[in-house]
Amino acid sequence: MYDYIIIGAGVIGSCIARELSRFNVKVLVLEKENDVANVQSLANSAIVHSGHNPEPNSLKAKLSVWGNKLYEDMEKELEIPLLRTGAFVVAHNKAEEEQLFELAKTAKINQVPEFSILDYKEASLIEPNLSKSVTKVLSLPTTKVTYPWEVAFAAMENAIINGVEFKKNSLVTAIRKENDKFYVTVNNSDILESVHLINAAGVASDDIASLIEKNVQFKIKGRKGEYFVLDKRVKGFVKNILYPLPTELGKGVLITPQVHGEILLGPNSLEVEDKYHPTTSYEGLTYVKDHASMLADNIPFNQIIRSFAGIRSTSDYDDFYIKESLEFANLYHLGGIDSPGLTACFAIAKYLVNDVMNVNKKYALNPGFNPYRKKRKMFHRLSQEEKQDLIKDEPLYGNIICKCEKITEKEILDAMHGPLGSNTIKGIKKRTRAGAGLCQGGYCEEKIMKMIAKEFNMSPLDVAYDKEETKLFVSETKVKL
Ligand SMILES: Cc1cc2nc3c(=O)[nH]c(=O)nc-3n(C[C@H](O)[C@H](O)[C@H](O)COP(=O)(O)OP(=O)(O)OC[C@H]3O[C@@H](n4cnc5c(N)ncnc54)[C@H](O)[C@@H]3O)c2cc1C
Repeated sequence: MYDYIIIGAGVIGSCIARELSRFNVKVLVLEKENDVANVQSLANSAIVHSGHNPEPNSLKAKLSVWGNKLYEDMEKELEIPLLRTGAFVVAHNKAEEEQLFELAKTAKINQVPEFSILDYKEASLIEPNLSKSVTKVLSLPTTKVTYPWEVAFAAMENAIINGVEFKKNSLVTAIRKENDKFYVTVNNSDILESVHLINAAGVASDDIASLIEKNVQFKIKGRKGEYFVLDKRVKGFVKNILYPLPTELGKGVLITPQVHGEILLGPNSLEVEDKYHPTTSYEGLTYVKDHASMLADNIPFNQIIRSFAGIRSTSDYDDFYIKESLEFANLYHLGGIDSPGLTACFAIAKYLVNDVMNVNKKYALNPGFNPYRKKRKMFHRLSQEEKQDLIKDEPLYGNIICKCEKITEKEILDAMHGPLGSNTIKGIKKRTRAGAGLCQGGYCEEKIMKMIAKEFNMSPLDVAYDKEETKLFVSETKVKL
């Protein structure tokens, strides 16, 4: 019997799990995928927004400004990567300049700590590739970029150290409440019990609510966003994130430097019928190209190495929906956590735990809570001396498996093991960056596949790229592996 079951291990479920682990409570996180953050929290722009654009006095405004500040603490506690880029919102003419001044007023009301308006001349000294059609920019220096998957991974790793249980491949299929207890069915078989239930299921949050409630208070309308990724050889093309002026569709197509050196172009914003299967399209990516070109000149489109899409869990409730169920006490919904959900994730967790669920008033603190998570150092970032010392102790550091990103055999083996280890190609890529470089795994994937097969005593035929249905091979040929 658990005190809390959390459904969903995106950035929201993972941060809530960590926040709950500060207390003396038994917590379980159920995730249908084979890893943390495989859905919305994996496919987004990675921006920790300043909080300049949500509607004043909304939860989005309050939690994004607070969340942005919390990232500074989390960089120290969880060793989450942060790139302090700053951002420019651009205007091209007098009418857009008026909107820029209005946006600056919103930033002030939302208590964004720093912002200023620059003219083209000042802005282009900082960003030489800024489009010459730009007349003014709103500069937002507290905007930064993180690595979203690692935010969830770090929060969950820390939660597990502090006593939380995590079950992957666990699809919640039914929920009922009897005698003050929730009975949660997983994969149509096991039934788990808990006193409280937290629905952090992203685009599925309304479907989860409808497993138990008659009148669900919010409806998710998935909004797709598509991207191009430019190779890290373009690092420095822009230092700031470039935003157009926001519209009712969102923040628009952006140019966003990433923590590992790549640059993202995108996203567009299209309402989709199927909120579970993000796909890219020629039309969507053409829109991205055209709109990115309004922000900067000479974008190196010849450096595109891949494209991807994500689906936002936008709801018909005009703000984050973070409330106790109207029908069942101790059931809590996190609905409509679209952008700026990544920015706000640590603040959302604190708000839910302390202000909505009042856990601090019901339970004692966990005396053994350790807020720190140690990240493994990336071998290629060490000094020559440090590298040689490590290789002396562990020769597998001397064998580079991914040539583009310079990832060693030892780092790949480490990523396979531990409480949040992985035995898929994509799982290893997310943990180490092996396969994320220029050749996109063309060189190292086959080597990693063989390592997984050996390490987990599997047939190569059973090694998957990601989900169960994405096995790499269909059958053996005459070539012996
Ligand atoms: C295109 C795009 C761009 C964005 N850009 C930004 C940005 O730059 N900055 C920003 O702040 N925000 C951004 N966002 C928003 C941000 O990504 C989300 O707010 C955040 O990731 C939401 O996290 P989550 O944990 O609620 O959802 P998710 O990451 O989707 O997690 C929900 C989890 O629930 C699991 N689940 C669902 N159903 C079940 C079930 N039945 N049983 C068990 N588990 C289940 C899913 O598998 C999933 O892992 C963007 C979003 C998109 C799509």
